[in-house]
Amino acid sequence: MEKVEQSIKEFISETIRTIPDFPKKGIMFKDITTLLNDRRALVLTSYMLSQPYIDYKVDHIVGLESRGFLFGTNLAQDLNAGFIPIRKPGKLPHDVLKQNYELEYGTDSVEVHVDAFKKGDRIIIHDDLIATGGTAAAATELVERLGGVVVGYSFVMELRALKGKEKLKKDVPFETIVEI
Ligand code: AMP
Repeated sequence: MEKVEQSIKEFISETIRTIPDFPKKGIMFKDITTLLNDRRALVLTSYMLSQPYIDYKVDHIVGLESRGFLFGTNLAQDLNAGFIPIRKPGKLPHDVLKQNYELEYGTDSVEVHVDAFKKGDRIIIHDDLIATGGTAAAATELVERLGGVVVGYSFVMELRALKGKEKLKKDVPFETIVEI
């Protein structure tokens, strides 16, 4: 089974393309539109994201704007959970809680609806890619400030050199399909 999973991971990895210097010089942008465009990669990615968490009794998937929405709702359906978007400021229409986080230069922030889940709800944080981990760490803060319990992290890709995982909760499972 491990061999099969490894070859699935390699296949998925090969469908992701790298665009140098996008959106600015020096960034190697990981473009998943080519993965999404491949019907086999699409179904295998959904499968690989849900498998580790099948028995987790998850209440909600929190998806990070915007590419965390692409597989996030699907992951929620596969785990019999609801989906909650975390968005950039000013995008969510109801009352929100906001969390600031540090960027290389400056700060950014993310928001969630204050009534998106109940205290004690079990939540998985999902995005297409983890780089510095700032966004996922801010999402963790938002979930915990509203009384939610982060029971897992889920990414399609991890840029390991940026050590984003170190910003996340150590005692919570961390799952990624492709490590670069
Ligand atoms: P971070 O907060 O540094 O972990 O950044 C994560 C967010 O930025 C995710 O929503 C990613 O989609 C996006 N991102 C960061 N670096 C890249 C990259 N090299 N290629 C594609 N997306 C990226």
